[in-house]
Amino acid sequence: MVRAFLIKYAEIGIKGKNRYLFENALVRRIQERLERCDGEYLVEKEQGRVYVEALSKEFDREEVMEALTHVFGIAHICPVVLVEDKTFENVCRELVAHMKEELGDRPFTFKVFAKRSDKSYPMESPDICMEAGSYILEHMENAKVDVHNPEIPVYIEIRGRAYVYVTSVKGPGGMPVGSSDRSMLLLSGGIDSPVAGYMMAKRGVRIEAVYFHAPPYTSERAKQKVVDLARLISEYTGPIQLHIVNFTDIQLYIYEECPHDELTIIMRRYMMRIAEKIAKERHCLSLITGESVGQVASQTMQSLAATNAVCELPVFRPVIAFDKNDIIEIAEKINTFETSILPYEDCCTIFVAKHPVTKPTVEKMEASEKKLAEKIDDMVKQAIDEREIIEVRPGE
Ligand code: ATP
Ligand code: MG
Repeated sequence: MVRAFLIKYAEIGIKGKNRYLFENALVRRIQERLERCDGEYLVEKEQGRVYVEALSKEFDREEVMEALTHVFGIAHICPVVLVEDKTFENVCRELVAHMKEELGDRPFTFKVFAKRSDKSYPMESPDICMEAGSYILEHMENAKVDVHNPEIPVYIEIRGRAYVYVTSVKGPGGMPVGSSDRSMLLLSGGIDSPVAGYMMAKRGVRIEAVYFHAPPYTSERAKQKVVDLARLISEYTGPIQLHIVNFTDIQLYIYEECPHDELTIIMRRYMMRIAEKIAKERHCLSLITGESVGQVASQTMQSLAATNAVCELPVFRPVIAFDKNDIIEIAEKINTFETSILPYEDCCTIFVAKHPVTKPTVEKMEASEKKLAEKIDDMVKQAIDEREIIEVRPGE
């Protein structure tokens, strides 16, 4: 019976001296994710591997598999049978029972791969392969050997105990969250920014988020939608601190004082300034947006440059070169798409001009922003001071 899972990791296996940092982050993220599953689990590092072992009798294999497919850093998940009595005869018996359970009666080709880290074991790896292969052929009529291109690689590992497995499910890849530093995601209710946050988390980055809302122009349910999106991506990123900034007064002030065709860019520049201030306060080392070249007027190269110019921190735009369809494909995969397309108003679109500038220059924007000099610094400070903070946790 499967009571354990072997976790194979790809990229983090090659990080040299810092490898333990990655492994520790991976173990921690797996432990956190399994806390939401029924039962007790032991998560252990052992010789460049991570094992998850179910300690309670009752546990739901599917639930654990589902949980593990949300943990970045995992390349493959292999449900494993732990064999305490590792006499060869017993290992073969357990192996065939496991294969019958996993594969049923369907015809398949296989090849045995054996590894022996217990050097006192009386058989060497090539013999284990050969003899186990014969045993399988004897006991499973549907089995056929194919040493060049086996459909089912059959693994036997002799350690303190013996481990046998034949199933491997692809994990999400990437690196464990927390193996890199923290970043502030500008999270709107759209399709792109949740995907951008997910993609950075996949590189090990810890995510916080900021959302600008403009009540009463944007509604409570538009805000709830962003909280929901944060919760959906938190399934991958872990808990997210979400900063909700009231942007109404700033938006109205810009609307009164500045040329309307420049409104979006000036607004975006203030969003970035505020996001950066909160980011620095929270020890984030970068910002993340869901911008993609050419998608809208505020995302032409010039507009991006004009927006970028107000930031000192690096701004990461992981979907910058993605087509909308490619972004949607990821949004569907991570289950944010349906929520993102709910038709609630967005604070960017409410005051949007009929013909927004598409070639703004930094100089021109700075000149226009001079008209805000009297009040804007206080307004920015107030918006930051009075922000609402929500701790968004997965599964709640
Ligand atoms: P998205 O689908 O992510 O909303 P979009 O295509 O609607 O993107 P814009 O509205 O131009 O594009 O926004 C570009 C980026 O600016 C967003 O991806 C997001 O990172 C950030 N952003 C826009 N509006 C907000 C907001 N109200 N709060 C926080 N961030 C925002
Ligand atoms: Mg948007």
